[in-house]
Amino acid sequence: MTGRLELIVGPMRSNKTAELLRRVEIRRQYAKQHVLLLKPSADTKAAAGVVESRNTNGCGKMEAIEFPFVDPWSAMPILTATEQNIGKRLECVAIDEGQFVQDLFLFTKRLLESGHDVMVSGLELDFRGLPFGEMLQLSWLVRTFAGNLTELVAYCSCGAKALYPQRFIDGKPASYGSPVIMAGDNYEPRCAEHFVLPGRPH
Ligand SMILES: [Zn+2]
Repeated sequence: MTGRLELIVGPMRSNKTAELLRRVEIRRQYAKQHVLLLKPSADTKAAAGVVESRNTNGCGKMEAIEFPFVDPWSAMPILTATEQNIGKRLECVAIDEGQFVQDLFLFTKRLLESGHDVMVSGLELDFRGLPFGEMLQLSWLVRTFAGNLTELVAYCSCGAKALYPQRFIDGKPASYGSPVIMAGDNYEPRCAEHFVLPGRPH
């Protein structure tokens, strides 16, 4: 039997990570399931780490396995070892910050096909308003593997629903040409009217 995909999407400050951690917690606590929590990192080796939500209510942090964002497959031996350890298949694999994960579509598909439920949270759009990584592709897996999609909402300071992650570099709106992944940037959720993107071609 194949697993099901729970996809959690929304802009910054929509509590995606908090929602992911909540679901991990209730599976562990009430359903007595084994859930492996994975987190992409810029490190080149898989290692222990922590997933932390910016929301201070609810489960704020949780231990996670960090894997290089360019190679989610490197987490597979940890999954296999855990399953040998507990003597059965893990019920669920949870992935935070899915937008950073290369090969996310295939990796998730492989987990579903091998009978694991998968939960993925992440951003669908980057600071340019373009599809971020492979997050949008995962909706095909939701339909095909009978999963579900949760769209969390964040608000612009004007009160309208925020669609875009407004990025700031040194306090100024980031230009279209700035690198997609860079340290020291800041974000806030903005509606279409208040989203500013200097240098956008269209
Ligand atoms: Zn606004």
